[in-house]
Amino acid sequence: MELHFECTQCGRCCHDLRLTLSVAEACAWAGRGHQVDLLTEAWPWPDDGASSDAGMAWRKATSFAVRVGDVPFRINLRLVARHEGACPHLLPDMRCGNYEARPRICRIYPLESRPFEAVEPVRRKCPPEAWHDDLPLLERDGEPSDSAAGEVLAAHRQAMIDDVPVKARLASALGFAETAFAGEGMAVCEVAPLALLTVVEEVSSGRWDVAQGWAIVTNRTSTAQMLANLDCPVRLVSAGPAYLPAFADEA
Ligand code: SF4
Ligand code: SF4
Repeated sequence: MELHFECTQCGRCCHDLRLTLSVAEACAWAGRGHQVDLLTEAWPWPDDGASSDAGMAWRKATSFAVRVGDVPFRINLRLVARHEGACPHLLPDMRCGNYEARPRICRIYPLESRPFEAVEPVRRKCPPEAWHDDLPLLERDGEPSDSAAGEVLAAHRQAMIDDVPVKARLASALGFAETAFAGEGMAVCEVAPLALLTVVEEVSSGRWDVAQGWAIVTNRTSTAQMLANLDCPVRLVSAGPAYLPAFADEA
């Protein structure tokens, strides 16, 4: 299957950001004084053996093991550049003012950063006229047509794996031990840029271990009850800056 695309320079992808960053990119972003959040979601993970399923292997490689109560989970922690409105680097003519140092996720958009997921144009911010069979080839059978973009995509994915130990210790150093239940939303830890830089330096020198004692946060009473029945620490919350839900709050 082929997907054809050409950027219209509309600038929509540079507004209302949540850009997934590597640790190094997060430090560069915070070093310019911009906001980086920690986002977490967790999967119950009763069997930690090797999986022949490539999607499960990727999920495992990009997450770390914790216990929530006595139940084993794996947590995916994302470092995310957050900005309401226009990116602080966006120039009035919609060009990037940080072009040479822009994060990989900006370089690969609208390609899909996660493996085993197809690009879905309707889930991209690009306007309909950016997608047309007469335009240049973006990807064929899920593979980028441009080898340079493919290399950036591969580097982004590798960083998502390589950064797991540092991100696990980062949460510990920040005292952040709450996570959403995977598929229901994301728990959010907002960190001031300078604090992030300080803590990354600390954990990079090996001063912190991965914290245990995690709790699940959810805005669904049914999920809270199910987890409580398993003796998992759980906290019922409402949608807001600290919890980005996939579903409306459950009464
Ligand atoms: S860094 Fe540049 S490309 Fe990335 S969102 Fe900001 S303006 Fe857009
Ligand atoms: S949203 Fe799509 S078409 Fe618009 S600037 Fe970004 S990549 Fe280009």
